[in-house]
Amino acid sequence: MRKIAIYGKGGIGKSTTTQNTVAGLAELGKNVMVVGCDPKADSTRLLLGGLAQKTVLDTLRDEGEDIDLDDVLKKGFGNTSCVESGGPEPGVGCAGRGIITSINLLEQLGAYDDDKQLDYVFYDVLGDVVCGGFAMPIRDGKAQEVYIVCSGEMMAMYAANNICKSIAKFGKVGDVRLGGLICNSRKVDNEANMIEEFAKQLGTQMIHFVPRDNMVQHAEINRKTVIDHAPAHPQADEYRALAKKINDNTMHVIPNPLSIEKLEKLLIDFGIMN
Ligand code: ATP
Ligand code: MG
Repeated sequence: MRKIAIYGKGGIGKSTTTQNTVAGLAELGKNVMVVGCDPKADSTRLLLGGLAQKTVLDTLRDEGEDIDLDDVLKKGFGNTSCVESGGPEPGVGCAGRGIITSINLLEQLGAYDDDKQLDYVFYDVLGDVVCGGFAMPIRDGKAQEVYIVCSGEMMAMYAANNICKSIAKFGKVGDVRLGGLICNSRKVDNEANMIEEFAKQLGTQMIHFVPRDNMVQHAEINRKTVIDHAPAHPQADEYRALAKKINDNTMHVIPNPLSIEKLEKLLIDFGIMN
């Protein structure tokens, strides 16, 4: 079983990209579980055709410890297994702590057991804060392979670089590795070239360049992935290509984060000037 975590700046497209990629892997015949690690609980909406009825934390709150896997795990597109950790009541408690509770509970309930025959588990982790519970998937060996969603916008690259610092730190003591950057285009000038160079300097690869396309919104309003909603659309093929590249990927590295000077130079060389 490959255990993958998706990180990236808030709003960059982690949940959308994760679910579309998972749909692509499901089409390849892979058995995949998605664990949403975001109090918004929107990591599985496109696979389930709507928001999950109940998160792990809600279920724990309402029903106590005596729960079954079926209470928190729902089947979605392509027989994917979908779980949402959920979060504390807004303004109360620590969301990171909730992720730890959820993953531990899933383990206890046998969600990862051999009889489930999972090929992949994907953790879709909130925002770019790699602290506390949000670092848990990569800190405690829950995920071994990280993909960072970024774009050519400065703050997305800045966040990606910070996430690399965490991977570098945890990678030295554990087995977490970076599998690559996924460029989710914001139509910045020279974007693909810049992210390729950024990836190279980090010691990794740009595993795929996902174009920006309104079909993503069309599918989203229909509560579906693009692969489900418009299987013949070119954007669906982009996600299929990304799924295949992840499935075939053997490049797993401890990244070398850039100094702020180098990061700024990259932006100037490729973008801002001229
Ligand atoms: P958060 O950090 O809040 O969890 P996120 O990184 O998971 O955000 P998403 O919710 O996946 O981001 O995406 C934000 C919005 O960007 C979505 O509403 C989606 O429609 C849009 N989006 C993502 N990728 C693309 C794309 N390739 N083309 C067009 N729109 C996109
Ligand atoms: Mg999200």
